[in-house]
Amino acid sequence: MITVIEHAAISTVDADGTEFRDGHVVIDGEHIVAVGEGTAEVAAGRRVDAGGCLLTPGLVNTHHHLYQWATRGLAADSTLFQWLVELYPIWGRLDARITHAAASAGLARLALTGCTTVADHHYVFPAEGGDQVAALVAATHRIGVRSHIVRGSMDRGASDGGLPPDNLVEDTEAALLGTEHAIDAHHDGAPNARVRIAAGPCSPFSVSERLMTGAAELARRKGVRLHTHLAETLDEETRCLAEFGCTPAEYADKLEWLADDVWLAHTVHLAPAAIRRLGATRTGSAHCPTSNGRLGTGIAPVRDLLDAGSPVGLGVDGAASNESGGLAEELHQSLMQARQRGGPTALTVRQALWMGTMGGARCLGRERELGSLEPGKLADLAIWDLSGLRYAGIEDPVAALVLGAVPPLKLLLVSGETVVADGELKTADESTLASELAAASRRLR
Ligand code: ZN
Repeated sequence: MITVIEHAAISTVDADGTEFRDGHVVIDGEHIVAVGEGTAEVAAGRRVDAGGCLLTPGLVNTHHHLYQWATRGLAADSTLFQWLVELYPIWGRLDARITHAAASAGLARLALTGCTTVADHHYVFPAEGGDQVAALVAATHRIGVRSHIVRGSMDRGASDGGLPPDNLVEDTEAALLGTEHAIDAHHDGAPNARVRIAAGPCSPFSVSERLMTGAAELARRKGVRLHTHLAETLDEETRCLAEFGCTPAEYADKLEWLADDVWLAHTVHLAPAAIRRLGATRTGSAHCPTSNGRLGTGIAPVRDLLDAGSPVGLGVDGAASNESGGLAEELHQSLMQARQRGGPTALTVRQALWMGTMGGARCLGRERELGSLEPGKLADLAIWDLSGLRYAGIEDPVAALVLGAVPPLKLLLVSGETVVADGELKTADESTLASELAAASRRLR
């Protein structure tokens, strides 16, 4: 079916930053076939009048822990390590049903804030928890988005000097086997894939060196990407220096974890040499400004990373450290934090939008099929309604999206299929998702 969207302000986020004041996008099946100024003179099965709206690529979330949607509002005033220690025992009771309810609700919230692709880092696998990766895959199909499920792992419990309790960690070889099984069962390498799998040991302070190197070897053998938390807090740096005699970035480099098939969550505390190294190796960063603010971990050197050549994407992080869980807010937060750190010219509104779209696609290795509005790319796009009281008369629609309140969505498409229309989720019933989530949260606590 041909869909024509017309009369929209369009920010394509292509390499030239092409924009149209009054333009059109033509979609054939799941692909974009034309983008341009004015109306499109083609016969269409569906025409969408997007007058008063801004059309952008769908947002790409590069770091999340969807299961945490069931544990929001806890340890509200704690440091990262205090927060983890309070939450670990609760997460130890996680099972596939809870994960499915939490992920469905979390993905719905992301879709309602313009997100079409989601990287979810799932690293809690209690022995009696069932098939949690399958639960995440099912939630992806239920809500109709695209996901990159990072099969996470922890193998260093408290008795091995790690932070998590022993009952929450897996045996090293079982974790690697579980990761390999998830890849074999669910990874789709096709350009239009709805589900991809990545390998993701949780963080240097919760996994062994053997798990870090084993995951890297496995991922490269299978042709999937690698993800972990790195350089999030000063506590982590202190711990790493004491244990390994080097910073987290140096440790990752030593284990061949700085490379163009790796993206790292947070990268807040990086020395200048580490920033250059991430740039030279094209290692990606998942910048999570709201979570960093919630946990007071610091402000990531986003400007410096971009200048060094590191692809930077945006992430909401888990809902237990970002109770909002909406991705459009991160456009705003990333701009505020970059300017607080580097001054008024540290980041433009269009660079914030680039991080939320193409930067994220690059982190996930999807830049050829996602991240911009260009012929041949998948029709993952967001139409933001700027017609209301909050935006009337505003000069620059991209400034409205990044600096203003989060606009409602007129339409959100994934592979040309409608996920959100007129501010409402169309793939699932929101009140059903909410009641399932409330029941799952009660059961978990
Ligand atoms: Zn995280």
